[in-house]
Amino acid sequence: MTTSSPARRVAIIGPGRLGTLMAVSLRRSGYRIVAIGGGSETSRDRLAQTLSGVHTYDDPGDAVRAAELVILAVPDRALEPLVRALAVADVFSAVHQLVHVAGIFGPEVLAVAAKAGAQVAACHPAVSVPTVVTDPDRLMNAAWALTASPINRGFATALIHDLGGTAYLVEANRRVLYHAALTVASNATAAALVTARRLLAAAGVADAHQFLTALATSSVAHAVRDGVAGVSGPVVRGDVETLGRHADAILADVPDCYQAYQAFTAATVHTVVTANPSVDAPRLLAHLGHADLPGQPQLLTCADALRDALAPHRRHGRRIVLVPTMGALHAGHLALVRQAHRHGDVVVVSIFVNPLQFENPDDLAAYPQTLETDLQQLADLCDAAPHFVFVPDHVQMYPNGRPQTQVVVSTVSETLCGAHRAGHFVGVATVVTKLFALVGCDVAVFGQKDFQQAAVIRQLVADLNLPVTVVVAPTVRASDGLAWSSRNERLGVHERAVALGFSRALAVAATTSLGLREGVDVAACVGAARQVLDDSDVVVEYVAAVDPVTLQPVSGTVATALLAIAGYVGDVRLIDNVLLGDRVDEQRLIAAVFGSGKEADD
Ligand code: AMP
Repeated sequence: MTTSSPARRVAIIGPGRLGTLMAVSLRRSGYRIVAIGGGSETSRDRLAQTLSGVHTYDDPGDAVRAAELVILAVPDRALEPLVRALAVADVFSAVHQLVHVAGIFGPEVLAVAAKAGAQVAACHPAVSVPTVVTDPDRLMNAAWALTASPINRGFATALIHDLGGTAYLVEANRRVLYHAALTVASNATAAALVTARRLLAAAGVADAHQFLTALATSSVAHAVRDGVAGVSGPVVRGDVETLGRHADAILADVPDCYQAYQAFTAATVHTVVTANPSVDAPRLLAHLGHADLPGQPQLLTCADALRDALAPHRRHGRRIVLVPTMGALHAGHLALVRQAHRHGDVVVVSIFVNPLQFENPDDLAAYPQTLETDLQQLADLCDAAPHFVFVPDHVQMYPNGRPQTQVVVSTVSETLCGAHRAGHFVGVATVVTKLFALVGCDVAVFGQKDFQQAAVIRQLVADLNLPVTVVVAPTVRASDGLAWSSRNERLGVHERAVALGFSRALAVAATTSLGLREGVDVAACVGAARQVLDDSDVVVEYVAAVDPVTLQPVSGTVATALLAIAGYVGDVRLIDNVLLGDRVDEQRLIAAVFGSGKEADD
């Protein structure tokens, strides 16, 4: 077996951190270092001073020619060009034993030297040498990856042995994996500990260094001995609440550590799941914000699942928009969903028939429920589909039956429908407050068709300082003018024709309102609308003109008024409204009333 012999002359090409350390170690083992080449002049001189009496060469080819054992210790990326240049200079011969110390390459990069008769090997120590040190003990007991053909292993193994280390064979085609492993072990460990140190500093731990040394040493011992089984903590327990609390605290106090925390925690999930399939990786990763927004609407029926699903998006600063509905979806609802996308990043549609807002049990029982078609319609919106559809059941929303806490909005809810439907707006305000809390939305979209409902919510948000922007979208009508309503499904052909009295009455009132330069003649408009309804089979509940902000009755001549109608067609109760006054731009008026600025113009 050929071995490298201390008597042989050694050249170090690349007197950087590892080259220097190898040189001093070999010198101590009795090797004759005769030449230093490559690298900068400063680094060559530094090593020459340390070793004394060694010749330095500007041209690495000259250093190679002066030696038999050549150690190429240049940076990984410089290795191939260096070998090519040396081959062109024709410096390699059968006299040479050639070793490179680039972790990622096998001996194939030295093929030209092998062709010239040199013995070649790739040797890489699993040691980190972050600065130039000349303590030869630094390489003692190091593990070295050795890649060489069987006939070349001997000299390289002896060399590693003389450096105080042990050789471990790595196949040439496994070298990149080997390198990846070492990169993870050193970089990820260092990065994790640096991050931990910053978090500890933020937590006020005085001696973070001592603290981490003890912890990291025992973690390393566990991981090396027990593998994944040695990992414990919230990821293994699937404890998303704790992870969420970590994330919130980091985002609040050391936000620039958040990405690293997230990445380390995700890495832990990916690692532990390989050995412990009971770990719910998708849920944990979703919680960490690794979930993209779903391409298809995701159906959620439980409040906890909704909170979990939205948490990562909220953490990423995405704006959440809620469209509350009672289902039986139609074009009006779908327009709100489309509009919702313009006001935020994550769109949630809720579908819940809220018993609290039905004062009449028969009306509640007759309310259409068409969940399957609703979900299909939402999915069919494609790009405009909501991201999440929250469909809680009664127990989710009211686990203890009628809640003890109910939200009462006074003045604005006492006129119009409020005067005819006792308790209706208490039910609406209560359920909407609950939905706002459950979803944690930044924006909520309502339809103008239920103008008073939107006004009640606006008042509620203002009075309780809820951090939600209320957006009101225009009423969507069928081509015949009838405002879309879930209750329209209950109208027969004749009743539907009767129901057109609503939109016709509003249109007549709007036309009437246009005549006067000084404003809207309330009595004339109400009278005109009532006339149309009286001439139809609609059983009128009210026809009223109110102030669009206060919803209190107006009379005489006013700048603007909301004309609202409620009535029955058969046993189906319908409502509709129109804003009179600045009739040319009803949406601008709505925006002014609801304070949602330009948004409602969209
Ligand atoms: P609902 O399912 O009836 O509670 O309605 C849910 C939301 O859709 C409310 O904000 C309604 O105002 C709105 N909406 C209902 N019908 C229409 C319509 N025809 N045009 C626009 N929005 C509507």
